[in-house]
Amino acid sequence: MDIEHIKEEIQKLHSELPTGVKLVAVSKFHPVEALMAAYDAGQRIFGESRAQEIGPKHTAMPGDVQWHFIGHLQSNKVRQIVPYVALVHSIDSERLLRCVDDEARRAGRTVDVLLQLHVAQEATKYGFTIDECRGLVDSGVLGSLANVNVRGVMGMATNTDDEAEIAREFRAIRHTFDELKSSHFAASSSFDTVSMGMSDDYRIAVAEGSTMVRIGTTIFGTREY
Ligand SMILES: *Cc1c(COP(=O)(O)O)cnc(C)c1O
Repeated sequence: MDIEHIKEEIQKLHSELPTGVKLVAVSKFHPVEALMAAYDAGQRIFGESRAQEIGPKHTAMPGDVQWHFIGHLQSNKVRQIVPYVALVHSIDSERLLRCVDDEARRAGRTVDVLLQLHVAQEATKYGFTIDECRGLVDSGVLGSLANVNVRGVMGMATNTDDEAEIAREFRAIRHTFDELKSSHFAASSSFDTVSMGMSDDYRIAVAEGSTMVRIGTTIFGTREY
Protein backbone atom coordinates (compact mmCIF):
# COMPACT_ATOMS: atom_id res chain seq x y z
CA MET A 1 0.00 0.00 0.00
CA ASP A 2 1.38 3.36 -1.07
CA ILE A 3 0.04 6.10 1.20
CA GLU A 4 1.45 8.91 -0.95
CA HIS A 5 -0.07 7.45 -4.11
CA ILE A 6 -3.50 7.25 -2.45
CA LYS A 7 -3.32 10.89 -1.31
CA GLU A 8 -2.18 12.07 -4.73
CA GLU A 9 -4.95 10.21 -6.55
CA ILE A 10 -7.60 11.62 -4.22
CA GLN A 11 -6.32 15.15 -4.79
CA LYS A 12 -6.17 14.62 -8.55
CA LEU A 13 -9.72 13.28 -8.66
CA HIS A 14 -11.06 16.08 -6.46
CA SER A 15 -9.59 18.67 -8.81
CA GLU A 16 -10.54 16.81 -12.00
CA LEU A 17 -14.18 16.03 -11.23
CA PRO A 18 -16.60 18.82 -12.11
CA THR A 19 -18.56 20.54 -9.35
CA GLY A 20 -21.68 18.49 -8.79
CA VAL A 21 -19.99 15.13 -9.29
CA LYS A 22 -19.31 13.37 -5.99
CA LEU A 23 -16.50 10.88 -5.52
CA VAL A 24 -17.15 7.60 -3.75
CA ALA A 25 -13.77 6.08 -2.85
CA VAL A 26 -14.37 2.34 -3.24
CA SER A 27 -12.40 0.87 -0.36
CA LYS A 28 -13.67 -2.73 -0.31
CA PHE A 29 -10.97 -5.21 0.69
CA HIS A 30 -8.55 -2.40 1.62
CA PRO A 31 -7.34 -1.87 5.19
CA VAL A 32 -8.20 1.10 7.39
CA GLU A 33 -4.70 2.59 6.90
CA ALA A 34 -5.43 2.97 3.19
CA LEU A 35 -8.80 4.57 3.93
CA MET A 36 -7.16 6.95 6.41
CA ALA A 37 -4.70 8.10 3.73
CA ALA A 38 -7.67 9.01 1.53
CA TYR A 39 -9.42 10.64 4.49
CA ASP A 40 -6.34 12.76 5.24
CA ALA A 41 -6.39 13.95 1.63
CA GLY A 42 -9.97 15.17 2.15
CA GLN A 43 -12.07 12.18 1.09
CA ARG A 44 -15.24 11.65 3.14
CA ILE A 45 -17.39 9.18 1.14
CA PHE A 46 -16.32 5.54 1.10
CA GLY A 47 -17.97 2.67 -0.76
CA GLU A 48 -17.99 -0.91 0.48
CA SER A 49 -19.47 -4.04 -1.03
CA ARG A 50 -19.24 -6.55 1.81
CA ALA A 51 -21.70 -6.12 4.67
CA GLN A 52 -19.27 -7.37 7.29
CA GLU A 53 -16.65 -4.71 6.46
CA ILE A 54 -18.80 -1.67 7.15
CA GLY A 55 -19.27 -2.00 10.93
CA PRO A 56 -15.58 -2.46 11.82
CA LYS A 57 -14.44 0.24 9.40
CA HIS A 58 -17.11 2.60 10.71
CA THR A 59 -15.79 2.03 14.23
CA ALA A 60 -12.17 2.56 13.19
CA MET A 61 -12.67 5.69 11.07
CA PRO A 62 -13.62 9.27 12.03
CA GLY A 63 -17.31 9.98 12.59
CA ASP A 64 -17.76 12.31 9.62
CA VAL A 65 -17.25 9.54 7.05
CA GLN A 66 -20.28 8.65 4.92
CA TRP A 67 -20.54 4.93 4.21
CA HIS A 68 -22.09 3.83 0.93
CA PHE A 69 -23.01 0.24 0.14
CA ILE A 70 -22.36 -0.46 -3.54
CA GLY A 71 -22.32 -4.24 -4.04
CA HIS A 72 -24.99 -6.88 -4.36
CA LEU A 73 -26.85 -6.91 -1.05
CA GLN A 74 -28.47 -10.04 0.31
CA SER A 75 -31.62 -9.54 2.37
CA ASN A 76 -30.11 -11.38 5.32
CA LYS A 77 -27.25 -8.84 5.46
CA VAL A 78 -29.40 -5.72 5.49
CA ARG A 79 -29.67 -5.56 9.28
CA GLN A 80 -25.87 -5.58 9.52
CA ILE A 81 -25.44 -2.40 7.46
CA VAL A 82 -28.52 -0.30 8.25
CA PRO A 83 -27.05 1.40 11.34
CA TYR A 84 -24.05 2.72 9.39
CA VAL A 85 -25.03 3.25 5.82
CA ALA A 86 -25.76 6.69 4.30
CA LEU A 87 -26.69 5.44 0.82
CA VAL A 88 -27.38 1.99 -0.64
CA HIS A 89 -26.57 2.14 -4.38
CA SER A 90 -27.58 -1.40 -5.20
CA ILE A 91 -31.32 -1.90 -4.72
CA ASP A 92 -31.96 -4.54 -7.39
CA SER A 93 -35.36 -5.97 -6.43
CA GLU A 94 -38.61 -4.86 -4.83
CA ARG A 95 -38.03 -7.51 -2.19
CA LEU A 96 -34.70 -5.95 -1.19
CA LEU A 97 -36.24 -2.47 -1.15
CA ARG A 98 -38.98 -3.72 1.21
CA CYS A 99 -36.39 -5.40 3.37
CA VAL A 100 -34.30 -2.20 3.70
CA ASP A 101 -37.51 -0.31 4.55
CA ASP A 102 -38.39 -2.86 7.27
CA GLU A 103 -34.94 -2.83 8.82
CA ALA A 104 -34.70 0.96 8.66
CA ARG A 105 -38.04 1.24 10.48
CA ARG A 106 -36.85 -1.23 13.08
CA ALA A 107 -33.72 0.89 13.57
CA GLY A 108 -35.77 4.09 13.77
CA ARG A 109 -34.25 5.73 10.72
CA THR A 110 -34.69 6.45 7.03
CA VAL A 111 -32.17 5.08 4.54
CA ASP A 112 -31.34 6.76 1.22
CA VAL A 113 -31.23 4.32 -1.71
CA LEU A 114 -30.66 4.16 -5.45
CA LEU A 115 -32.39 1.80 -7.87
CA GLN A 116 -29.79 -0.25 -9.73
CA LEU A 117 -30.39 -0.48 -13.47
CA HIS A 118 -29.17 -3.34 -15.59
CA VAL A 119 -28.09 -1.92 -18.95
CA ALA A 120 -24.83 -3.81 -19.52
CA GLN A 121 -24.54 -6.76 -21.85
CA GLU A 122 -23.15 -9.12 -19.25
CA ALA A 123 -25.76 -11.52 -17.91
CA THR A 124 -24.11 -11.44 -14.48
CA LYS A 125 -24.84 -7.87 -13.51
CA TYR A 126 -27.69 -7.34 -11.06
CA GLY A 127 -30.39 -4.74 -11.39
CA PHE A 128 -33.77 -3.78 -12.83
CA THR A 129 -34.23 -3.49 -16.55
CA ILE A 130 -35.41 -0.02 -17.49
CA ASP A 131 -38.95 -1.39 -17.95
CA GLU A 132 -38.91 -3.13 -14.57
CA CYS A 133 -37.73 0.07 -12.94
CA ARG A 134 -40.52 2.09 -14.55
CA GLY A 135 -42.96 -0.63 -13.47
CA LEU A 136 -41.81 -0.43 -9.87
CA VAL A 137 -42.13 3.34 -9.76
CA ASP A 138 -45.49 3.28 -11.61
CA SER A 139 -46.87 0.71 -9.16
CA GLY A 140 -46.93 3.36 -6.44
CA VAL A 141 -45.29 1.03 -3.94
CA LEU A 142 -42.61 3.61 -3.08
CA GLY A 143 -45.26 5.78 -1.47
CA SER A 144 -45.97 3.07 1.10
CA LEU A 145 -42.32 2.57 2.07
CA ALA A 146 -41.82 5.39 4.55
CA ASN A 147 -38.32 4.46 5.71
CA VAL A 148 -36.53 4.45 2.38
CA ASN A 149 -35.89 7.56 0.33
CA VAL A 150 -35.19 6.90 -3.35
CA ARG A 151 -32.48 9.38 -4.36
CA GLY A 152 -31.92 8.22 -7.94
CA VAL A 153 -30.38 5.45 -10.00
CA MET A 154 -27.13 3.54 -10.28
CA GLY A 155 -25.67 1.46 -13.07
CA MET A 156 -22.63 -0.16 -14.59
CA ALA A 157 -21.58 -0.29 -18.21
CA THR A 158 -20.40 -3.38 -20.02
CA ASN A 159 -16.75 -4.20 -19.41
CA THR A 160 -15.56 -3.49 -22.96
CA ASP A 161 -13.08 -1.33 -24.90
CA ASP A 162 -15.93 -0.09 -27.09
CA GLU A 163 -16.29 3.44 -25.75
CA ALA A 164 -19.32 4.17 -27.93
CA GLU A 165 -21.13 1.23 -26.34
CA ILE A 166 -20.17 2.38 -22.84
CA ALA A 167 -21.39 5.90 -23.62
CA ARG A 168 -24.66 4.51 -25.01
CA GLU A 169 -25.29 2.54 -21.81
CA PHE A 170 -24.52 5.49 -19.54
CA ARG A 171 -26.80 7.67 -21.67
CA ALA A 172 -29.61 5.14 -21.15
CA ILE A 173 -29.10 5.32 -17.37
CA ARG A 174 -29.10 9.13 -17.38
CA HIS A 175 -32.15 9.18 -19.65
CA THR A 176 -34.05 6.88 -17.27
CA PHE A 177 -33.17 9.17 -14.37
CA ASP A 178 -34.43 12.22 -16.29
CA GLU A 179 -37.64 10.43 -17.22
CA LEU A 180 -38.35 9.35 -13.63
CA LYS A 181 -37.44 12.80 -12.39
CA SER A 182 -39.98 14.51 -14.64
CA SER A 183 -42.72 11.89 -14.23
CA HIS A 184 -42.69 10.77 -10.58
CA PHE A 185 -40.10 12.75 -8.71
CA ALA A 186 -40.70 16.27 -10.00
CA ALA A 187 -41.63 17.43 -6.51
CA SER A 188 -38.78 15.60 -4.80
CA SER A 189 -35.68 17.78 -4.55
CA SER A 190 -33.74 14.84 -3.09
CA PHE A 191 -34.12 12.76 -6.27
CA ASP A 192 -30.78 14.04 -7.51
CA THR A 193 -28.31 11.17 -7.94
CA VAL A 194 -27.02 9.31 -10.98
CA SER A 195 -24.32 6.92 -9.75
CA MET A 196 -22.24 5.72 -12.68
CA GLY A 197 -18.57 5.47 -13.59
CA MET A 198 -15.71 3.37 -12.21
CA SER A 199 -11.91 3.51 -12.63
CA ASP A 200 -11.94 2.50 -16.29
CA ASP A 201 -14.93 4.48 -17.50
CA TYR A 202 -15.64 7.39 -15.15
CA ARG A 203 -14.66 10.06 -17.68
CA ILE A 204 -17.24 8.73 -20.13
CA ALA A 205 -19.81 8.54 -17.31
CA VAL A 206 -19.18 12.16 -16.31
CA ALA A 207 -19.55 13.27 -19.93
CA GLU A 208 -22.90 11.43 -20.03
CA GLY A 209 -24.28 13.09 -16.90
CA SER A 210 -23.08 11.15 -13.88
CA THR A 211 -23.41 12.94 -10.55
CA MET A 212 -21.53 10.32 -8.52
CA VAL A 213 -18.57 8.17 -9.54
CA ARG A 214 -17.40 5.04 -7.69
CA ILE A 215 -13.64 4.67 -7.99
CA GLY A 216 -11.50 2.02 -6.33
CA THR A 217 -8.52 0.69 -8.27
CA THR A 218 -7.30 4.10 -9.47
CA ILE A 219 -7.04 5.27 -5.86
CA PHE A 220 -6.10 2.19 -3.87
CA GLY A 221 -4.47 -0.08 -6.45
CA THR A 222 -5.59 -3.60 -7.23
CA ARG A 223 -7.55 -5.51 -4.62
CA GLU A 224 -6.32 -8.73 -3.07
CA TYR A 225 -9.42 -10.88 -2.69
C1 LIG B 1 -15.69 -2.55 -7.00
C2 LIG B 1 -16.75 -1.65 -7.53
C3 LIG B 1 -16.43 -0.38 -8.05
C4 LIG B 1 -15.02 0.15 -8.20
O1 LIG B 1 -14.38 -0.44 -9.28
P1 LIG B 1 -12.90 0.00 -9.75
O2 LIG B 1 -12.78 -0.56 -11.11
O3 LIG B 1 -11.96 -0.59 -8.76
O4 LIG B 1 -12.85 1.49 -9.73
C5 LIG B 1 -17.49 0.43 -8.47
N1 LIG B 1 -18.77 0.02 -8.38
C6 LIG B 1 -19.10 -1.19 -7.90
C7 LIG B 1 -20.52 -1.58 -7.85
C8 LIG B 1 -18.11 -2.07 -7.47
O5 LIG B 1 -18.46 -3.27 -7.00
